[in-house]
Amino acid sequence: MTEAHESHVPGNRSLKVLYILGSSRSGSTILDSILGELNGYFSAGELRFIWRRLLEKRRCGCGQPLEDCEVWSQVLKGVADQDLSETARRNYKRQQRNVSTKHTAGLLRRRVGEFGSDELATYARATASLYRAVADVTGAKVIVDSSKRISDGALLRLLPGFELYFVHLVRDPRAVANSRRRTKINPDREVPGEMGGKNPAGSAFQWAVGNLGADAVRRKHPRSRSMLVRYEDFVKQPRRIVEQITDMVGVTPESTPFVSDTSVRLGVHHTVSGNPIRFNTGTVDLIEDNRWLAELAPFDRAVTTALTLPQMLAYHYPVRLGKRGDD
Ligand SMILES: [Zn+2]
Repeated sequence: MTEAHESHVPGNRSLKVLYILGSSRSGSTILDSILGELNGYFSAGELRFIWRRLLEKRRCGCGQPLEDCEVWSQVLKGVADQDLSETARRNYKRQQRNVSTKHTAGLLRRRVGEFGSDELATYARATASLYRAVADVTGAKVIVDSSKRISDGALLRLLPGFELYFVHLVRDPRAVANSRRRTKINPDREVPGEMGGKNPAGSAFQWAVGNLGADAVRRKHPRSRSMLVRYEDFVKQPRRIVEQITDMVGVTPESTPFVSDTSVRLGVHHTVSGNPIRFNTGTVDLIEDNRWLAELAPFDRAVTTALTLPQMLAYHYPVRLGKRGDD
């Protein structure tokens, strides 16, 4: 928690940010949690949602309301006006008007430090201050952000003094469609809400757009600072993939949470938002969730495959798979 304080001069210090791209339910939360256990890394969760989650009074991964959490209360002191709700409301509006999926192509055409409008420049400054405050408060050398949205990845490219790395996590679209179809409870509000229940065709369309966009964001970025990871490979060899990621970022942790090649011990993380598994602690075994093989109806499987076929082939997913165990 000390070293970042010594060198903090806004805009002057290069700040390493590791941004996870991909569609929802691709395993980003568990990857984010594991990276957050490494010395020098801080897992912020899905940081793009901070302003909205503050307005919704949601909870941090530590269980406290965000504004009362020991980390985020400190971070927000440095980046918000006295009226935190007003700051959150303004930034949320700016984000909606300038940094949503439909703005991605425009953002990708811009160069570092070039924002084109006062409102986008203001939002970009707020975003840069937020990351720098996180680095200050936590002392982290690398901030891990699992927001996944392509628009926010495209914006981060434009922030001066940011050393940005991308991990594009991709998962079989049929597994994603099945996961999004299932409902589960999200305990991050006063009255826990339900998530999921999405229709497979809609999930497939979002998967296609999200991954096409993630490919486009990576094409605009130096190859040495970006990597594609398939969820299915990650759960088979998580330790190896995490090593490849830390090699790319250039910050080697002194120790890791792995208790075996495929098991990790997880503590509490101050994640802003994400899948409910961010609240899980203790020893976690990484096992591929392939329930879709048994659960996804043939029609939904066919629709999902048809909508995502070119990309499935590009990411080397087999079109024909039998029931569980046949592959
Ligand atoms: Zn917290």
